[in-house]
Parts: sequence; C-alpha cells; structure tokens
Amino acid sequence: SKDTIQCTYKREVKEQAPTPHSHVEFVPFKKIYNDALDAVGHTPMIRLNKIPKEFGLKCEVLVKCEFLNVGGSLKDRIGVRMVLDAEKQGRLGPGKSLVEATSGNTGVGLALACAVRGYPLVITMPEKMSQEKQDVLTGLGAKVIRTPTEAAWYEPESLIQVAKKMAADDPNVILLDQYSNPSNPLAHYEGTAEEILWACDDKLDAVVISTGTGGTITGVGRKIHERVPTCKVIAVDPYGSDLAMPQEINQTDIKTYKVEGIGYDFIPKVLDRTEIDGWVKTLDLDSLLMARKLLSQEGLLCGGSSGATVWGALQWAKAQNFTENQRIVIILPDNIRNYITKHLSKTWMIENKFISYDELKEPEHPLA
Ligand code: PMP
Repeated sequence: SKDTIQCTYKREVKEQAPTPHSHVEFVPFKKIYNDALDAVGHTPMIRLNKIPKEFGLKCEVLVKCEFLNVGGSLKDRIGVRMVLDAEKQGRLGPGKSLVEATSGNTGVGLALACAVRGYPLVITMPEKMSQEKQDVLTGLGAKVIRTPTEAAWYEPESLIQVAKKMAADDPNVILLDQYSNPSNPLAHYEGTAEEILWACDDKLDAVVISTGTGGTITGVGRKIHERVPTCKVIAVDPYGSDLAMPQEINQTDIKTYKVEGIGYDFIPKVLDRTEIDGWVKTLDLDSLLMARKLLSQEGLLCGGSSGATVWGALQWAKAQNFTENQRIVIILPDNIRNYITKHLSKTWMIENKFISYDELKEPEHPLA
C-alpha cells in the first residue's frame, strides 16, 4: 500500500559487551523426545518459490516455520522455557498455580507446559482473539478470562491489570510475565536463533520478525548480530501499534487492527529496540491477503502475523535492492488453525471488507 512507511535508520552498534546469557549446547533435532515439551522448537526452514518472484525479487527468501511447533506457534518456546526456568529458580512447584496475560499463543505454550508439569493455569485474553485459541486453551486445561480489547494496558479491566491483580491477591498464584521475563528473549537467543544460523550455515543478509512482546526479535536479533554482524534485523509492526521507531512513523488514524499477536500501546521491557536495524509498518489488508496467498501458493498453513511479516519483508527487500546472491529469513509465528473462523473464512473476509464478493470468484477448478 502506498501509505506504508519504511524506516531504515542506522542502528547504534554497541561495543561487543559480554551477553548476560548462558551458552548451552545446541542440538538441532533428536530421534526421540522425552515429552511434548522436549519437542518444542526444531522447526523447518523452507524456501519461498513463487511469491518473491511475483514481487520481482531475485534474492533467496526462506521462512522459519514456527507455526509447525507442538502447540502451533513460536510462543511454545517461551511458555515451556518460562515454566522450566521458574521451577529451577524455585518460584514454581507443588501447590502453585499460574496466571498470564496473552493474546493467546503464549497461553497455549504455558498451557502445554502446565498440562505436562501439573499446574493450574488462568489466562487473561482480549475479546478480539479468536474462539479457536480459547477452545485449545480450555482443552489443555486452562481457564480463560476475556478482557475488553479497547482497554489500555494501564486500565484495571485490561488483560495485564486483571492478571497482575490475581497474582497480587494470592501468593500461590505466580505471574511469569512474558513482557518482563528474561526467559522470553532467552528462549529465542538460545533456540530460534541457533536453529536459523544452523540452517543457514551462518550465511544470511537479513532476518525479518514481527513484534509483540519483542522477545523473539530481541533474542534472535542479539544472537545474529553477535555471530553475523552484517545481518540486518528488521521489525514488522502494524499500524495502530506504537512499537516502531522513530515514533513519527506510528502516526495514523487506525486505532485497532485484526491481525493478532503483534503490536502494543506500550514498550514491553523485553523489547530491546537497539537490536533493530529498521521497521516496516503494515496494514490488515496486505497482511491477511498475504497470509491467504502463503496458504494457496506456497502450501504454508500460517496466520495473519506471518502474512504481515512476509509482506513487510518483501517490501523492505525490494526497497534495499536485494539481489540474487542475498538471503533473507522470515519468521512465520503461528498456524492458520487459530483463524479457521477468521481470515481463512471467505465470509469473514467479505464481512470485514477485505475482499469483495466479486474478487472472491475463483478460477474454475480444472476438475470441475
Ligand atoms: N505473531 C503472533 C501470532 C504472536 O502470537 C506473537 C506473540 N504475541 C508474535 C507474532 C510476536 O512475538 P513476540 O511476542 O516474541 O514479539
């Protein structure tokens, strides 16, 4: 879209300070996993063959398929990691339960961990998030409390304040708090980033990631900048969110958007914007049409934020004149099964004015 602003300001390159992270041995995959939690991660890297060509791009475009995680998203990594780290730190154990504010996917990751490790879990989630997410959470044994989508993060009825109050009222209820928990970026620093570097043999020119809590881009960005300092780390942020820099590029009349899991009206503690080399702002229309295209043309069953990230990545690569011998990696965060009644549904796309009825008339099936 013409009014999408791209910003590629120069990141301040820091002195190579020793990172606060531990360095664990990286194992790309195992023959047999001990339980469902052990199988989180180890997601495939797949080449896009048609869509970049259609956009006139000659560079290699790879997608890291986080939507193929055990619970269906990249947030499985942090759900499991936050629970296991809290156990190690002695914060979590028998008699404790958990509460967390989430747009849904962290909830599923936590619910997976809680199902296997045996903790009761309450999830606070805005009304805008899909019923599919609620059903999966409930199936995994969590209790879901819906909060008003329009409530600002500091208002008492917002998902964040409802979760904070539950934890403040009962010492046995633990809020792991993905927005400030160092285990969030660490899961990506030690997991996602290592897998990307392993798959690419440390050869990549850009990595493009959408931002919610910012845990993914902070962890992946930090490790990749350490190992491949020339690689650009590009963030995707929807219009209606205030995460992008500089602040002027966030200006818009758009208040809410349909794409789930990305964008905030506050800067989460775990988001280190100094790891980001550039930002691309995105609109629902481009994002959701791209998500549908990834499904129908590349066979990738991914969600709306994946569409946003691919759309942003292609725009950015084009503006940078990326050529044949350059490689870009895009993270696809979650699975289309979260959106069966949303952008996968033609009726929903028409009702929300993302496509007209006429545009939806598909070419006749060859076997019709
Ligand atoms: N896409 C989706 C669908 C998500 O649920 C999330 C997590 N909120 C993200 C992208 C962004 O991940 P992060 O919180 O690590 O920035």
